[in-house]
Amino acid sequence: MKKDLLKKLPKVDYLQNVESLKKIKEDISNYDFLQCIKDSIDKFRQDILQEEIKDFTQVQIIEDIKLRIEKKSKEKIVKVINGTGTIIHTNLGRSIYSKDIGNKIYNILTSYNNLEYNINEGKRGDRYSNLEKLILQVTGGEAALVVNNNAAAVLLCLNEFANGKEIIVSRGELVEIGGSFRIPKIMEFSGAKLVEVGATNKTYIEDYLEKINENTRILMKVHTSNYKIQGFTHEASKEEIAKLARDKNLISMEDLGSGNFINFSKYNIVNEPTVFQSIESGMDIITFSGDKLFGGSQAGIIIGKKKYIDRLKKNQYLRTIRIDKLTVAILESVFEIYLNKNEAVKKIPTLKMITETKEEVLGRCKVMSNILSKFKIEHRIIETKGNIGGGSMPQEEIDSYGIEFQMEKGSVLEKLFRKNKLSIIGIIRNNKFILDLKTIQENDIEDVCNNVFQIYKRKGLI
Ligand SMILES: *Cc1c(COP(=O)(O)O)cnc(C)c1O
Repeated sequence: MKKDLLKKLPKVDYLQNVESLKKIKEDISNYDFLQCIKDSIDKFRQDILQEEIKDFTQVQIIEDIKLRIEKKSKEKIVKVINGTGTIIHTNLGRSIYSKDIGNKIYNILTSYNNLEYNINEGKRGDRYSNLEKLILQVTGGEAALVVNNNAAAVLLCLNEFANGKEIIVSRGELVEIGGSFRIPKIMEFSGAKLVEVGATNKTYIEDYLEKINENTRILMKVHTSNYKIQGFTHEASKEEIAKLARDKNLISMEDLGSGNFINFSKYNIVNEPTVFQSIESGMDIITFSGDKLFGGSQAGIIIGKKKYIDRLKKNQYLRTIRIDKLTVAILESVFEIYLNKNEAVKKIPTLKMITETKEEVLGRCKVMSNILSKFKIEHRIIETKGNIGGGSMPQEEIDSYGIEFQMEKGSVLEKLFRKNKLSIIGIIRNNKFILDLKTIQENDIEDVCNNVFQIYKRKGLI
């Protein structure tokens, strides 16, 4: 009995050529395709041996392999549709780029380039020099350097200027970002000693002054990106900290978190401090992320006084956190857009999504709604609240609109959409599945609708 069943197990060669499997094998590598087939045969063999099954059909094995292929195809990095309304979604890759930037990157990626070659002089060049020039043009800073991410930027600065020495930070600013970046931990790694001053809610410039001694090197300010201390609060201003550092021959430094260049109050959004304000305040060094509000790629951007940036450029540690050509190309493109700030809010997707009116979102909702209606998919347009995310402006909700799907429980649809060939990630509210159109791009709408149609059809919902 067992023997007969084992004999019935199809061969790998045979399964490899089953039409319905060949159709989807492109979604994964050939190696993984074979592995899925082998794993499936193995599973059935085990089930037979342990008498878990008394019989099976070819179709069952093929379906099992299909599921394995689908699962495998979702493990590698793929495009997903962000229907959550969270603009800088850290799990979904934070900021996205415009098609223009995409085209430029495509060319850089598929050809050689002048990353470290000075074309004008025909000799070795510097990978950072043009990017640095652009950063200075946009920000008015004295000198700049770009590293792998903001956490690395902070670490590099602390290591260069305060290794074995002391850094003073307010107790209200000892932040943890995304569960893995903790200011106190970063300080420990850098070799610097953290000296906390003030209370959680109130810190005055005198508190910093009191703790300065011959071991102090840096007075540091950290932007509390992902939380707000409310009520009776006080913090020493950037200007006060910069001045005190100057008077005492120390370095003032600010970890700005989300590098913001835009005055958002124009758009009825709570104002987030800008990079310009920090530079004007007289801070010696500021650092921020490249892929939060700035809207570029993962990077840590350091702007500061030339004498300090020159020292950072010589730090041996820099080599371990340097950026690659992709990052150089993306950041150059994004900084070029920032040369014209009115363009930036239109051309940088992150900023466009933050500053567009809710009527524009409603427009996208209507386009989607029309297509869904043609497919006879029950839904309605509802008001939603999007948010900025990425630890930026934690309390800021942005008025938005979304599509609420009427059929089926929210949790059922959520899973079907998420596991679809084109993953569509949405939210569940009041047991209904919702796609927030704030974060769905206009040119994806048709594709999303077609996929929704396929999902409904497959499940016999229409
Ligand atoms: C996000 C953030 C960081 C970490 O930046 P990464 O670019 O993600 O490394 C550090 N400090 C603050 C204040 C932040 O908001």
